[in-house]
Amino acid sequence: MLPSPVAASRAVRLALPAAVDRRRIVWSYAVTVGLYHLLALLALLPWMFSWTGVVLALVGTYVFGGLGINLGFHRLLTHRGFSCPKWLEHACVIVGVCCVQDTPARWVAVHRRHHEQADLRDDPHSPLAGFLWGHAGWMLVENRDLARLGIYDRYAKDVLRDPFYRRLERSLLYPAIVLASWVLFFLCGAVASLAGGGTLADAAQFGASVLVWGVFVRTIAVWHITWSVNSAAHLWGYRSYETAEQSRNNWVVALLSNGEGWHNNHHAQPRAARHGHRPWEIDGIFGVVRVLEAMGLVWDVVRPDPKLVAAAAQRAAMSAGCSDDGHRALQEPTRDAGL
Ligand SMILES: [Zn+2]
Ligand SMILES: [Zn+2]
Repeated sequence: MLPSPVAASRAVRLALPAAVDRRRIVWSYAVTVGLYHLLALLALLPWMFSWTGVVLALVGTYVFGGLGINLGFHRLLTHRGFSCPKWLEHACVIVGVCCVQDTPARWVAVHRRHHEQADLRDDPHSPLAGFLWGHAGWMLVENRDLARLGIYDRYAKDVLRDPFYRRLERSLLYPAIVLASWVLFFLCGAVASLAGGGTLADAAQFGASVLVWGVFVRTIAVWHITWSVNSAAHLWGYRSYETAEQSRNNWVVALLSNGEGWHNNHHAQPRAARHGHRPWEIDGIFGVVRVLEAMGLVWDVVRPDPKLVAAAAQRAAMSAGCSDDGHRALQEPTRDAGL
């Protein structure tokens, strides 16, 4: 049965946040985003092709994006949807750092501000101000609201209590981890080629292929998937909950992101580590959480409120024509949906 959408208020075109100055480019972001896209284009060269590289790009998109960003940065650090040992938290965060989506404190602060201001003018990346703005444009120009110290103080104090995350801010540790991952991918490819009897030229070709596909193409894929949660999943899809913004459950984004695309569910119950609330809403990341929980490596897992899930399901059934009684009583707006 297809879910019945909860009507969202008519979306209005938002102005950009007042603190944005479109004339001031954030060059560190612009150069990084441009450079990675150019490096990923090297994959079009026949010399760079290897099936190993393609598999690494595909699997790596799920592993790095899933464990690093979706599990580590988002469900663990930002929303504290579960607890785990520090070594496991740091391991996930290191994988997340390899995705080059800025430091964990910065990521957490921007995302918490998104939840606080979602689809209002001061949302850092609402697609109601334009699809491309919500997808990537927001990070390429200056937004004084996102000045590091200001948003850290307001949104990421808890994260920065950890000395490891402070070091990622204040030292060269962050770029060192990123560069180390480049070197590691190249060397693993080259050494594997040599071990298989390849020449030095073979090793260089295979190492380069593993680097381009396994790092650059994968990074671009993870970026656009993460960015699609911000853009597409606030524009297209169905709404199970009458939340105060325009978030949607988008199955394409959900499949690509291992469950992050059930974004309306997430906005309705942000702390819940499970984003897929209905039987068909596959949530691979929550599957990982459950496996880790069974192994004793994860505990205090925040699950969706069953009453709210049941109310959403009942609402869908009623909208499908079963009954209209009590419909209004089941609505759970958290803020006036009219923007
Ligand atoms: Zn959102
Ligand atoms: Zn969130």
